[in-house]
Amino acid sequence: MEFGLDKCSTVALKKGKLIESEGINMPNGQTIRCHQPEAYKYLGILQLDNIKHEHVKTVVSKEYTQRVRKILKSKLNGGNTIKAINTWAIPVIRYTAGIINWTQMELDNLDRKTRKLMTIHHSLHPRSDVDRLYLPRRSGGRGLLQVKQAVKEEEHALAEYVKQSEEPALIEVKNQKLLKAQQTKNQYKKTALQTRADSWHNKTLHGKFLDKIDGKADKEKTWLWLTNGTLKKETEGLILAAQEQAIRTKAIQAKIEKSADDPKCRLCKETDETIDHILSCCKKIAQTDYKQRHNYVAQMIHWNLCLKYHLPAVKNWWDHKPAKVVENEHAKILWDFRIQTDKVLEHNTPDITVVEKNKVWIIDVAIPGDSRIEEKQQEKLSRYQDLKIELQRLWQKPVQVVPVVMGTLGAVPKDLSRHLETIDIDKITICQLQKATLLGSARIIRKYITQS
Ligand SMILES: [Zn+2]
Repeated sequence: MEFGLDKCSTVALKKGKLIESEGINMPNGQTIRCHQPEAYKYLGILQLDNIKHEHVKTVVSKEYTQRVRKILKSKLNGGNTIKAINTWAIPVIRYTAGIINWTQMELDNLDRKTRKLMTIHHSLHPRSDVDRLYLPRRSGGRGLLQVKQAVKEEEHALAEYVKQSEEPALIEVKNQKLLKAQQTKNQYKKTALQTRADSWHNKTLHGKFLDKIDGKADKEKTWLWLTNGTLKKETEGLILAAQEQAIRTKAIQAKIEKSADDPKCRLCKETDETIDHILSCCKKIAQTDYKQRHNYVAQMIHWNLCLKYHLPAVKNWWDHKPAKVVENEHAKILWDFRIQTDKVLEHNTPDITVVEKNKVWIIDVAIPGDSRIEEKQQEKLSRYQDLKIELQRLWQKPVQVVPVVMGTLGAVPKDLSRHLETIDIDKITICQLQKATLLGSARIIRKYITQS
């Protein structure tokens, strides 16, 4: 009999009590002796009848942290970094679950070490939320597997397996009550995730973003940047920290850390320097940084419209330089163009105006703070109402106002897909618009807060 080749049958051997060097007494009276004179490796882990727990722990921990370090040193993007840790590093520990007698503290230490390594490699802000780190990306988390949870899940799975097995050896294991679990693996996992999600949401600063976007944003689309995972791990960590109010703005320093410094914005000196202020409300950078971020997003849409109407367009949207007016037999597209009307209107310069033979679209882009996406959308619609009425009268064709709104930290309004559908662009996706916005916001944070 080869021990170690079938994980489940090794459980009985390695949990301790049943075995000493003289072998195992089977229910049918047979005694199984261990033929291995010394430890051998199976999937990289030392195997022996009387396993050296402490020795294996040292070896395995070292291998695990080495793998985590290697991954973090690589150029993988944010999503793939986490995937690599989950599939290449975590299994090193998970394999030993139910076999090696890990203590809670040892597992906690491994998790702490992982986070520390992530912070050293600039992919996790030291004040970032720990619960969120271990939540799935589709729920707004980062999707990292926690060592402790991985081990517990595996122990639950083993206990479940043993409980259901009818093999004599495993029935003996069950009778010895070596594996204790009240829940199935799935129950355990579900409870653990729910506890984590609640804990994140209930934290005053870390959970604030969830309250801000509640009811206004399309949650699934708001987490697209996480589920796609194409941002650099450094940028991913920065955006998460910004959402969690973990970035040390002057207001945070003054109010949370109780420093004596002035909480006012370092640029305009007028309002408290919060992340929201720096990203969307500071007058000092409205015409520079905000405009640049805004134009990037508007330019993507312009580029896609040019393609749609077979107007000249370069290969990549990021190289696109919108001309004031482009026109052919299909349509005319105006960029940041003041539209002449009989009546003098306050708002007569939309970002993009598309004039087709029988229809006109007024497209305007805005990147407000995440809590204001809905009102911004409404504001855009009402702001261009007069222009819409005037144009319908002058040009004798229907005019539609299309607000394209994205929160500074990625909140996607519920109506955005519907609005984008009306202009029928098929190359630029919500995910790309969101990514461009987030890169713009990350640039602003780095420029004014974290580098200074
Ligand atoms: Zn300011």
